Amino acid sequence: MRLLLVEDDPLLGEGLQASLQLEGYAVDWLQDGEAAWAALRSDTFDMIVLDLGLPRLSGLEVLKRLRTHNAEVPVLILTARDAPRDRVEGLDSGADDYLIKPFDLDELAARLRALARRRSGHRRPVMRHGPIELDPSRHEVRFQGQPVVLPRREFSLLRLLLEHAGEVVPRHRLQEALYGWQDDVESNTLEVYIHHLRRKLGREWIVTVRGVGYRIPEVVE
Ligand code: CA
Repeated sequence: MRLLLVEDDPLLGEGLQASLQLEGYAVDWLQDGEAAWAALRSDTFDMIVLDLGLPRLSGLEVLKRLRTHNAEVPVLILTARDAPRDRVEGLDSGADDYLIKPFDLDELAARLRALARRRSGHRRPVMRHGPIELDPSRHEVRFQGQPVVLPRREFSLLRLLLEHAGEVVPRHRLQEALYGWQDDVESNTLEVYIHHLRRKLGREWIVTVRGVGYRIPEVVE
């Protein structure tokens, strides 16, 4: 899942980027509001963590512009303890959740998982689809009840496909979810990850839609 982190405090930003990467997100980190707004216009993100007190353009202004453009991407805002009005205005401007600084990293991770569930309509914490089970909080996957070891990017890929089970997920969406800006992407790496997933789950669970992308087939219950 591709996440945009907007935080101007360098220490906090660095720590958040590292810990969110460990949670399995492809994290792009920006430090001012103008840069964030430019990125949001040109790129697609699955999730945004947005500090409100930012140089050049406030987080609130970024959020308002984003929602004016009707983007449905989940946004979690980070606010200062002494600014309750910011929280109210942030929520009223289209934020989905907020955390007050300083906050606990585990709580941030749990809230992001909850936002991802709401977005995908999978309200149960463990995603189940036929023989496939994926637990985002534990980073565990089971196939026919047996644990399957998936490295971070294979896990993210499977999670995104499961969120859209039955639909074709375009190649570029999958690629965006796997890589941040810093990563060098070879054009065939997506195929490599798909190959690994198929080897572990069976070919029939990941269908190629030629020229478009990949799909996990519907399950007939
Ligand atoms: Ca700040």
